[in-house]
Amino acid sequence: MKDNPVVLITGASRGIGAATAVYFARFNYDVCINYKDNVTQANDVALQVRSLGVRAEVVQGDVSNEGDVVAMFAKLDHLFGKIDVLINNAGILKPQMSLLDMDAARINDVLSTNVTSAFLCSREAIKRMSTGGSIVNVSSRASCTGSPHEYIDYAASKGAIDSLTIGLAKEVAKQGVRVNAVRPGLIYTDMHRDGGEAGRVDRLKHNLPLGRGGYPEEVAAAIYFLASAQSSFTTGAFIDVAGGL
Ligand code: NAP
Repeated sequence: MKDNPVVLITGASRGIGAATAVYFARFNYDVCINYKDNVTQANDVALQVRSLGVRAEVVQGDVSNEGDVVAMFAKLDHLFGKIDVLINNAGILKPQMSLLDMDAARINDVLSTNVTSAFLCSREAIKRMSTGGSIVNVSSRASCTGSPHEYIDYAASKGAIDSLTIGLAKEVAKQGVRVNAVRPGLIYTDMHRDGGEAGRVDRLKHNLPLGRGGYPEEVAAAIYFLASAQSSFTTGAFIDVAGGL
């Protein structure tokens, strides 16, 4: 059996995570596909990955839950026996509103799904990266814009991801683990529907210098660059994939 590198992608049943799974498969990575609810879509992604001649395994788990994360990595150990790259991609967006209308349940859900998850998955990955590795966090340009009157909880969660990226990169550099992040903006995925406005990218795309929305594959390309040896002297860094936003 070929000894391909192994990537674990959280939230890879659709959107940016799914595109990233297929992108890594093209470069001969075996892919561990995490999802929370959409098993049918996760299995479809696995079929696409396998059609490219590499291994794909689907592992369910709520990455905001510590027990699920520990169990997910135990399954990864059993299935693949190693991890070379972790992509902290899973994330959620709640319906648009101002801070005055947000309750603690919503805020905590966004923070645990978007932030606690990345801490927990990174911890488990780093334990297994004794000879080096690479972590790419999927942040957002919202960390810089703040998303006023829409989702400042989401924007703040991505601000935390940016700080995690900077701090963790310094913490694990001597171990040979690089930690970087992409900051997408206005990408065509179902996340905007879940945030209450399916057509949000088309409504706002004219405000972007490049004048269009982005595609998941364009984010996947930046994630791959940061994960791969092509960026071997880069850590604690960010690539904005947001049309100039
Ligand atoms: P998406 O299409 O809504 O997909 C979200 C993925 O995350 C799904 O696979 C979902 O799994 C998974 N997920 C959600 N909660 C989870 C949990 N608790 N545990 C495990 N998996 C979970 O979103 P997307 O647009 O591809 O977003 C991917 C990342 O890019 C997110 O971090 C997002 O914040 C970031 N981003 C997106 C945009 C954009 O414009 N789309 C812009 C900036 C940043 P299920 O399908 O099983 O629910």
